[in-house]
Amino acid sequence: MSSPPPLTSSLGPWPNLANTGSPLDRVSERRRDQAFIASTLSHADARAVLIGGETIVLAQAEGNDPFIPLASAHKIAEIGESIFIGTIEGAARLGFAISPDDAERLKERTDLLVTDLRTIAMRGLIAPQHLQPVAIAKALLTWHSRHRFCSNCGQPTQVTEQGWRRDCSTCNAQHFPRTDPCVIMLAIDGERCLLGRSARFPAGMYSCLAGFVEPGESLEEATRRETYEEAGIRVGRVGYFASQPWPYPMSLMIGCFAQAETRDLNIDRNELEDALWVTREEAALMLSRQHPGSLFTPPPMAVAHHIIRAYVERGPDVLR
Ligand SMILES: [Zn+2]
Repeated sequence: MSSPPPLTSSLGPWPNLANTGSPLDRVSERRRDQAFIASTLSHADARAVLIGGETIVLAQAEGNDPFIPLASAHKIAEIGESIFIGTIEGAARLGFAISPDDAERLKERTDLLVTDLRTIAMRGLIAPQHLQPVAIAKALLTWHSRHRFCSNCGQPTQVTEQGWRRDCSTCNAQHFPRTDPCVIMLAIDGERCLLGRSARFPAGMYSCLAGFVEPGESLEEATRRETYEEAGIRVGRVGYFASQPWPYPMSLMIGCFAQAETRDLNIDRNELEDALWVTREEAALMLSRQHPGSLFTPPPMAVAHHIIRAYVERGPDVLR
């Protein structure tokens, strides 16, 4: 064990990782128990989040609460698909699909705040414990909106399992909600790490490289392939760090560290606007937004921030 590096004093307590750690109970083993489901729906604190396309309806007058009592939720807009996310202390949490046009219209109401989930998470607009249930509802409703027809025979499918499956009555195929695995990695070369930025990032923001895992590929192979494709850097040993649900629209970010084996960058400008090697000291300044060149990392809600911070605090030992 090496001694802790003297880089962490200004970074403060470890931040929450958004979209994780909710008190929500998915009660997945009881989704077919109609009496149980009915009891959670009739609970005085049963609530639903209204989602129209990319946008979420928040009760601005109630401290931006995304979960609205069922009777009130039904009065706000016409409900399309209804999905059961789980329970909190025995009370149901539901996701209600509303039309994007209705969501747009609701922006005129002063008692509501209607905005997209990425903005909500980035700006911390709702209480942290609400992020994961909203993320689940958003990911599931997106999946339903894109899977109305059977991918096997082309006929319409029906919602089952309280929204956790769609069945085809024509060919009997069962369709389960998808989560797309995506590796997000920090290549490490001793006291330097590799960061990159896409053209859609805010000016000055640099993050870990990332990419989707392809069929028939291990996480280690995906990490090596993406790092080489995007930045021309070969990496060897890959170590797992942590994961984060990323409902934009339905990914799972799988955070890894990777040992760099080459150093000369060859940036794929179709994927990245820029990539650079950053020292641990620079990375620490980017995390705390004190970098002299005004470079910065993603915000504390994102797993990229946690990956970079773990490297800043523990150095190359994070891979051991
Ligand atoms: Zn079918």
